[in-house]
Parts: sequence; C-alpha cells; structure tokens
Amino acid sequence: MPSVLDLDGLTAIVTGSSRGIGAGIAVAMLAHGANILVSGLDAAETETCRHDLAAQIAGDTDSRIAALAGDVSHPDFATELVQLAVERFGRLDHVVCNAGIDIIKPAVDYSVDEWDRVLGVNLRGAFLPAQAAARHWIKRGQPGSITMTSSVAGTVGVPTLAPYAASKGAINQLVRTLAAEWASANIRVNAVAPGYVANIMQGVTAHEDAASRQRIETFTPLGRRGTIEEIAAPFVFLASPSASYVTGAVLAVDGGYTAI
Ligand code: NAP
Repeated sequence: MPSVLDLDGLTAIVTGSSRGIGAGIAVAMLAHGANILVSGLDAAETETCRHDLAAQIAGDTDSRIAALAGDVSHPDFATELVQLAVERFGRLDHVVCNAGIDIIKPAVDYSVDEWDRVLGVNLRGAFLPAQAAARHWIKRGQPGSITMTSSVAGTVGVPTLAPYAASKGAINQLVRTLAAEWASANIRVNAVAPGYVANIMQGVTAHEDAASRQRIETFTPLGRRGTIEEIAAPFVFLASPSASYVTGAVLAVDGGYTAI
C-alpha cells in the first residue's frame, strides 16, 4: 500500500524556498519523492539552497532538484517558474506559494511604498504563480493543486502587522475563491496558516524580545513555537493524493493560537 503522503514522481514548485519554512517544505516534499523547483529572490542564496537540499536527502536527489531565482511579484517570473519545472521534470503537479515578507511598525507609520511592497510579494506574488500554473493545467486538461502560506495574522488582529495581516487575510479569501472557480478544472487550492514558528521571518526580529516570547507562549495553547518540520508536514499532505477531496481549506497549524 502506498504511503499516505506519497509524492513519488510528482513535481512541485516551492516559492520562497531558499531558506526558512519554504526550504523545510522543499526538504519534506523531496523526502516524500517529489521533484522540486526551489526559488528565492536572491540568486546566490537560491543556488546554495539547491546544493544544501541535495546533501540532506539520500539518493540521486541532484536530478530531482532545480532552482530559479527571481521576484514572485513579477508576472514574467511566474511563467518562467512553470516553464522550467515542465522543461526539467516533464510535468507540473503542485505549486506552493510561500514567499513572504514583513515590515513591522505602527500602522500610522507605513509609507505607501512599504504597503505596496508587502502586498506585492505576499498577495500578488502568491496569485501570479498560481495563475501561471492554472493556465498551464487548464490548457492541457491536466489536474493540479496549489497551497498558499497564510498566517494566524490572517485571522486575528496582531498590532504592528497592518499590511502583512491584510495580505494574509486576503490569501485566505483568495484560496476559497480560486478553489470554487477552478474545481471544475480539477485544480485544488488550499492554504496552511502557521502560528509562531521557530524560524523568525526576515524583518521580524522586533518580535524576538522577552515580552513577545512570553505573549506567544501564553496565547499558544501548546505553549511554544512550532518547528519548521511541523509546518512543512501539512504541505506534504495537501500536495498528496490523500488530500484529493480537500479544497478551499485554510488549515490552521498554530498550536491552537486561533482556537482560543
Ligand atoms: P523567511 O525566512 O524570511 O523566508 C522568506 C522567503 O521568501 C525567502 O526564500 C526569500 O528569498 C523569499 N522572498 C522574499 N521576497 C521575495 C520576492 N520578492 N520574490 C521571491 N522570493 C522572495 O520567511 P519564513 O519564516 O520562511 O516565511 C515563509 C512564509 O511563511 C511567509 O509567507 C510567511 O508570511 C509565512 N509565515 C511565517 C511564520 C513564521 O513565524 N516564520 C508564521 C506564519 C506565516 P530571499 O532569501 O532570496 O529574500
């Protein structure tokens, strides 16, 4: 009987996988048999990640990992990702729209440029790769699936995260809309909404102080930050055939943070 989380022979693009949660998703998907196209903004970091991933997994993983760096908020880059995945691995089955940035400050202090940058990467940068993949699948009559990375900030109010929270709330509604719209094309669309994770996002060091740590531990029923592996596992499930009846879901993976 195949493993519940079997991704053998499938191909996935993971945006924002040059480090952090995205790199963890790439490792987990590789370990479950997928071919992976890793991607980040910085070319050198993305290439280093490709080498590091290959070293972490047994077998001929080099032939199962490709890398492409670029800006997810740019439409041409989304098309390039899909083209490279298909060229390198002969197929595309899944896209993880995970790249994200945060700028933490009081809402009254954001500039228009900062607002546009966060929404551009987190929201447009999730929509465009999903759209490019859906165009590819619909044109060929092939099924596919997409998982976006949301956040607890998409559900509850967290002071000093205005554009980030707006982008993640929009992601939740985007996955429901795309799931409803693309179901007839056999394309599933879901989100994983992590709580506070051991990997601190770039730009979020403001939340590393003792008071923030205390607040996170107090308001997370499981009493701690999640590990990258605990966040990555549900992404593997959602990409797998075991999730064939799951679409339009926003799966909280937050130690219970949004349950109370
Ligand atoms: P991270 O360590 O800061 O990594 C962010 C990733 O996104 C990097 O690979 C980065 O590439 C890439 N990226 C940033 N801007 C990009 C752009 N314009 N184009 C392409 N790639 C870009 O963050 P993380 O903690 O792994 O977070 C990953 C996702 O999880 C985000 O969507 C975040 O909102 C979500 N999340 C994180 C947490 C948490 O506690 N960490 C909690 C909830 C949700 P470069 O390195 O090249 O810049």
